[in-house]
Amino acid sequence: MDAESIDFFELVKRVDTDQMGDFISYDRDKCNGCGLCALVCSFSLWAVKQGKAKLAVRYQELCLECGACEEVCEPGAIEFSYPKGGTGVIIEYG
Ligand code: SF4
Ligand code: SF4
Repeated sequence: MDAESIDFFELVKRVDTDQMGDFISYDRDKCNGCGLCALVCSFSLWAVKQGKAKLAVRYQELCLECGACEEVCEPGAIEFSYPKGGTGVIIEYG
């Protein structure tokens, strides 16, 4: 299988977002506005405005659950945990 024939949207399995709850928490007071979360998020779910980060309201619908935003956030303003319900990215290969 070559890369062009892979439908990446087929790799993402999701349940109804109402069942997922919040799986990313954000502490505005800890945010220093560095913008790294916005830089690493593949789906542009973070934006920095007036020195503080903001997460898209319905982020559950698009988040790839990569955890990168938490990894790069040095002040620990972002906490990521895998959502309930077996959602997320399934890498199928072979
Ligand atoms: S990476 Fe953390 S500190 Fe930097 S803008 Fe995002 S939330 Fe704020
Ligand atoms: S977990 Fe990944 S895709 Fe989801 S908001 Fe963070 S950086 Fe973006």
